[in-house]
Order: sequence, then C-alpha cells, then structure tokens
Amino acid sequence: MHFIDLEAQYNHLKERIDTRIHAVLQHGKYIMGPEVFELEERLADYVGVKHCITCANGTDALTLSMMALGIEDGDAVFCPTFTFFATAETIAFANATPVFVDSDEKTFNICPIDLELRIKETISRGDLKPKAIIAVDLFGLPANYPEIERIAEKYNLKLIEDAAQGFGGSINGRKAGSFGDIATTSFFPAKPLGCYGDGGAIFTDNDEYAEQLRSLRVHGQGSDKYNNIRIGVNSRLDTIQAAILLEKLKEFPIELDNRNRAALNYSQILPKSLVLPELPHGYTSSWAQYTVKTEQREKIIEEFRAKNIPVMVYYATCMHAQPAFHYLNYSANDFPVANKLSKEVCSLPMHGYLK
Ligand SMILES: *Cc1c(COP(=O)(O)O)cnc(C)c1O
Repeated sequence: MHFIDLEAQYNHLKERIDTRIHAVLQHGKYIMGPEVFELEERLADYVGVKHCITCANGTDALTLSMMALGIEDGDAVFCPTFTFFATAETIAFANATPVFVDSDEKTFNICPIDLELRIKETISRGDLKPKAIIAVDLFGLPANYPEIERIAEKYNLKLIEDAAQGFGGSINGRKAGSFGDIATTSFFPAKPLGCYGDGGAIFTDNDEYAEQLRSLRVHGQGSDKYNNIRIGVNSRLDTIQAAILLEKLKEFPIELDNRNRAALNYSQILPKSLVLPELPHGYTSSWAQYTVKTEQREKIIEEFRAKNIPVMVYYATCMHAQPAFHYLNYSANDFPVANKLSKEVCSLPMHGYLK
C-alpha cells in the first residue's frame, strides 16, 4: 500500500499528460512558454482571485511574497510553530524575526487567541516592528481566517496564507488561496495538486503586488529582458511542469471528491481510541494529510505497519525546537499545545486513488 499513490494517478492520466509534455517538446518554449500563462489563468479561476503568478516552488512563493510586502530586518512575522520548516525559514531568510504561535488543539492550525497574545507581547517589548502574519492551512484545512483577518486588521498587519497544503480546501465556499493579502501554494509532487518536480504559485487580488511579483520572479525585470528595475530572483515554473499541471488540475475536482470519500470512510472504520480530524462548520479540507492523534503513537504506527499500511509523522519537531532557530531562545513549555501535537499526531495514507 502506498502513502501517496502517484503511480496510479499517472497511469490514469498518462495519455493526456504525455500529449501535453510532447507539445512542449515540439514548440520548445521551455521557459515561460504558453502553458505557464494558460495555467496561471486556470489557477486564478479555480481559486477565485484576480492574479496567479507561478514560480519555482512553494518556498520561493513565500520568499517572493515577503519581498513584495517589503518585509525586512527588524520586522516581526508571526507564524505557527507547528508547521513545515519553509514557513518559518522564509521569514528568517528575509532577515525578519519569526515569532512563533501555539496551535489550536482541535484544528492543529495557528491559534487566534495565542496569536493576539504574542502580537501584544511583541508590541510591549518594543524591539521588533510587528509586520505580518503567515497562517498555514495545515494538512489541508484552511486556518481560522475569519478570526485571523480580524486580528490582522486590528493590528495593521499584512496576512499571507501559506496554502502549500491547503489548495482545494475552502471556508463557506471561499477557496484556499484567496485569503489574506497574498496566498502561496506548492506543487511539490506529494501536495494535493503536485507536478513532476518543483513548482509553486502565488495568488492575490492586488494589482500592484501582482505586477511586482511578475517582475521579482525574473530578476526584477522591467520593460524588457535586459531592463532590471529592482533586485529579484530567478524563480519560474518550467513550461513542462505547467503542461503537466494543466492536465492534473482538470482532474483535481474528481480527485478531491475521492479524498473526501476516503476521509469519510476513515471516520467510519478507524478505532474510537484514535482522535480523528473534524472539520469546523463551513470548512472543507483538501486532505493533504489525514492526521489522527493518539497518546500511543509508537504502538499504533507499529500495528499499522505490520498490516503493510504506511504511517508518517508530520511533524515530530516544532519550529521553536529546530536547531536552526535556537538563536530565538524559546523553551519547550512556550507552546504546550503544539508540543503535545508533535508527540501525538500521525498521518495515514491519503490520495485521490485510495481504495
Ligand atoms: C511544502 C510546504 C512548503 C514549501 O513548498 P516547496 O514547494 O517544497 O518549497 C511551504 N509551506 C508548507 C506548509 C508546506 O507544506
């Protein structure tokens, strides 16, 4: 049994994907070919925003967003401690300071109550300028945006939605990728919508950010290729990856239905001793992971593996405990909920072809 069955997906889409790849090989526009722009239109339509800007990966999508928002040395950026490293890494990479926030016990997402406490704490300490929040749609469930948007507005902070895992989820019909000032996603093969290599995208309704992001991803390009108006990076989505994603995106709603069906089946057959994920009212998940909670994680993992069912742990180490962030001097008891989650969660197989 596979944890994520990319082979089954390829077998299902083989003809369509192969045809698309061959079309790119025929026209030869490997960088910023027509498929890239076609995909950006389709993605913006799907998410329901004005602009989609693709880039090389989900980490770059965050870095580019922070460049567009002008996040710099001396700024505090709030993010959950229970997330994938890239969320926090890109804050430090922008020379800003990550301020970690504890998790909500039920959703595993950033806790709005703790978020407001840490913002107030940072303001009263006075050494950093509170600038932005990065909320993460962990395991596919959108963060509590109604609350987080209210807090961002109250303290005049920018909001980035890290929807690397969230693509496909929604709150009251509003899709992941449409929250905050800027949202980002990843097309890493194992994400809900993945390509066959690295890929990422940025979503925004803001024309000014979109224009900057289109320039930043190509060396700060101005009116033409050899006119550079700002310091940027080289972060483009390969045309071949865009071609693959166009076919995968067409199939995505069907795969998402299958993921939801698999999640429903899990909720009916798994033992009651496991704490199963629950969707808050009005929320849907992309089920990037189906993550359960148990105080007997090692035992459960062994039992499942004995039945040839792969189980993974995302994430055994919170950001505040990562060696790379020791310089921030957090202690383990600063984040009681996240710490407990890191010891108790594990994820079961989940993909659009699960039987
Ligand atoms: C995967 C992931 C990223 C980074 O995406 P890459 O495409 O691997 O660079 C960022 N944030 C979260 C929450 C992720 O899961």
